[in-house]
Amino acid sequence: MLTVRNLSASYGAIQAVRDLDLEVPDGQLVALIGSNGAGKSTTLKTIAGLHRPSGGRVELAGRDVTGVPTHRLVRWRLGYVPEGRMVVAPLTVQENLDLSWVGRGVGEAEVRRREERVFELFPRLHERRSQIAGSLSGGEQQMLAIGRALMCEPVCLLLDEPSMGLAPSVVDLVFDAIREIHRSGLSILLVEQNAALALDLADHAYVLERGRVAVSGRPADIAGTPEVHEAYLG
Ligand code: ATP
Repeated sequence: MLTVRNLSASYGAIQAVRDLDLEVPDGQLVALIGSNGAGKSTTLKTIAGLHRPSGGRVELAGRDVTGVPTHRLVRWRLGYVPEGRMVVAPLTVQENLDLSWVGRGVGEAEVRRREERVFELFPRLHERRSQIAGSLSGGEQQMLAIGRALMCEPVCLLLDEPSMGLAPSVVDLVFDAIREIHRSGLSILLVEQNAALALDLADHAYVLERGRVAVSGRPADIAGTPEVHEAYLG
């Protein structure tokens, strides 16, 4: 579903991602783990069109989408949940969900149908649909950020650090929802600091070190390697 070949990305002289290859096969959940500064978020931002690659190619469902800006990628049904959630604080839950859709070529009935699916997945958002997003808890904001990405009916979802800053019980709720989304057949690329959590959920995993893939494979296999066990699971 998503294929990344020789992807490179820099910030001035700092090369954050180097010749990176990765694949998210149809319906699979792929985890991208690694230490701070390894280049995980830059990889997602570059795939999502927020950062221009300095080289390489990104294909979504066979279409070359390298360097295509985020707002156009949404039309090609790539969902992106940024690190830090980035909900629009002064708007309500429902307005956040509707924001990119109402009056933009998607009919009102279709927007409501998509919204209902988000509310089914996150009943808490339904209860709070008229609440200002800025007053939601961190976990609820994460649910809203995921719900907003689902509004484009993605064929592939990019998730950047969904557990960040959340209490363990809330992390469980958010990850239950991610498991549910995965079960529905959606292809997912998950960046996560919490390697144990990510490996538990993933079909396949890549470990990034200094912008390069250091190890990749089935979670059960790579979790057993000394480098991964000591550095990320120990
Ligand atoms: P973390 O888990 O801490 O978020 P990460 O693996 O997501 O780390 P990135 O945020 O992609 O790593 O950062 C990769 C490298 O690029 C780091 O050296 C970082 O300092 C650098 N970097 C990231 N964003 C910028 C920026 N806006 N300007 C300059 N350098 C940046």
